[in-house]
Amino acid sequence: MKKQKKLIVGNWKMNPESLDDAKKIARDIKRGVVNIKKTDIVLCPPFVYIPALSGTPKSPMFLGSQDCHSEDRGPFTGEVSITQLYEFGVRFVIVGHSERRKMGESEEVINRKIRAVVIGGMTAIVCIGENERDSHGDYYEVIKSQIHSALKDVPKKMLSSLVIAYEPVWAIGAKEAMSPNELHETSIFIKKVLRDSFGIASDGIRIIYGGAVDRVNADRLIKDGGVSGFLVGRESLKPKDFMEIVKLADSI
Ligand code: PEP
Repeated sequence: MKKQKKLIVGNWKMNPESLDDAKKIARDIKRGVVNIKKTDIVLCPPFVYIPALSGTPKSPMFLGSQDCHSEDRGPFTGEVSITQLYEFGVRFVIVGHSERRKMGESEEVINRKIRAVVIGGMTAIVCIGENERDSHGDYYEVIKSQIHSALKDVPKKMLSSLVIAYEPVWAIGAKEAMSPNELHETSIFIKKVLRDSFGIASDGIRIIYGGAVDRVNADRLIKDGGVSGFLVGRESLKPKDFMEIVKLADSI
């Protein structure tokens, strides 16, 4: 099997405040991407900036969105469809981010969105992760159950159009990331669930980590954590720091 490329995703959330700033961040990142060979880079701006940025990314840089709706058209006020996103060059969609789960997004809705994304010819970046860690290891059950719900009825041949973004909720927006050792154990567990329940080889789906990744901790997290890249929040709005993370991933 061909070696999987690394993947670094920038989730801009509801930032920056102006289109000019969004264009500048995208331009600065694009400048830094010139010598990147083994890593895909995905920028996920707010919906409103997508049309203006749609010409900016060129492979290995891609445009992503932070969410989507599972239906293609109809009476869904405030929603955006896969077809609409595709037209503006979006090829990756973050689904089930914990900030959306907190707003009430259910496992069932997340599963519908994932199926719509892959059937629509895009890659779904499926966010999973426990709210907290306990001493009994119950969080493993949470992770397993989230994977089962998310991948339910996804056509087998489309499973390779998924990326699993493991984001322990307690590490998102926190000061410190999870330790590389804990990440390693968890990524082994995720790979086991994917293999045992869905027949996916360990290099069949990219697993990335998200939660307080920065240019300093990225090194050990990617070398020791058993992941193929990162979902980066705050640091993805700082082109210089973001590109350091990308270059580091590319050098491995
Ligand atoms: C995120 O938005 O998914 C995230 C991981 O944020 P941060 O990198 O800021 O913790």
